[in-house]
Amino acid sequence: METTIVKAFGTGAVDKPLEAMDIKRRELQPKDIEFEVLYCGICHSDLHQIKNDFGGTMWPIVPGHEIVGRVTRVGSEVTKFKAGDLAAVGCIVDSCGQCQHCKESLEMFCVEGVTFSFNSPDTYMEGDHTYGGFSKTYVCEDKYVLKMPAFEALASAAPLLCAGITVYSPLRHWEAGPGKKVGILGIGGLGHLAIKIAKAMGAEVTVFTTSPEKVSDAKRLGADHAVLSKDEEQMKNAKGSQDIIIDTVSAKHDVNQYLGMLKVDGSLVLVGLPPEALEVAAFSVVGGRKSFSGSNIGGIAETQEMLDFCFEHNIVAHAEIIKIQDVNEAFVRLEKGDVKYRFVVDMSSL
Ligand SMILES: [Zn+2]
Ligand SMILES: [Zn+2]
Repeated sequence: METTIVKAFGTGAVDKPLEAMDIKRRELQPKDIEFEVLYCGICHSDLHQIKNDFGGTMWPIVPGHEIVGRVTRVGSEVTKFKAGDLAAVGCIVDSCGQCQHCKESLEMFCVEGVTFSFNSPDTYMEGDHTYGGFSKTYVCEDKYVLKMPAFEALASAAPLLCAGITVYSPLRHWEAGPGKKVGILGIGGLGHLAIKIAKAMGAEVTVFTTSPEKVSDAKRLGADHAVLSKDEEQMKNAKGSQDIIIDTVSAKHDVNQYLGMLKVDGSLVLVGLPPEALEVAAFSVVGGRKSFSGSNIGGIAETQEMLDFCFEHNIVAHAEIIKIQDVNEAFVRLEKGDVKYRFVVDMSSL
């Protein structure tokens, strides 16, 4: 297959910092879109894959899966986009298209396995793997490309492509809305967007946090209530109060305590990725017919719905915009939790 050399930013080994490098992108196929990358968000899973935390990282690795750009060229069969349009790519860039889940636009559950926007075997270029958004351009089949609404703060909208859909999808699935009480665990990249989205859906939002200074952050982000989880009195008062809890915590924590905050038939949905197994006691779920569940990003159709919803409700991430040259430092800070609440790379710096 014909390829084009594209400037990117990545690393060739687990112990090396990211640096400028050249990668190959496939030449446009009839259904493909090429776009110039304008902004790319930084997600915790970029960090995990650079460090090979999940195993299976393929080097060189070019991360980035919250990709916003402007279309430069389209293939001969593309009608959905034209040059100059805003476009976006999130986590998913290919799937079988035939299985039950793909047919329902739940591509993330494709039985053949999903091709992710970076660090996945490339279905077009045999023996190669996909390279993410830390690059000048991106090439993707049109059905996996989102129409990016013209957000005023376009850079800050990039994190919607992974963080946004990760919390939007379970909020929709578990029917957050007027009359429903939604609890959010953790105010980081995911949690801060969960607060804004759940509020926009009409739910009453309570943040559970371990740190007193985050109580005021939670209120500023629009939460109706904040409960300090170390305060026994506050926790006792919040018992049995929530319909849904979105758990964004990526470290080991006691979920039983939070299952206790659910009403009968309530559900705690895990979207964080703690490295160790969590323990659920029988009495935490049996008594109130409660669910302990999980959720993983969202399909293409729902991601488009989420972008349009966030545009309509003026929701973007709280982002610190950085240059690509500062990305190594950003990963160090991300690891320490030293970001409010998401880094976005201005790719014009590459
Ligand atoms: Zn992500
Ligand atoms: Zn499939």
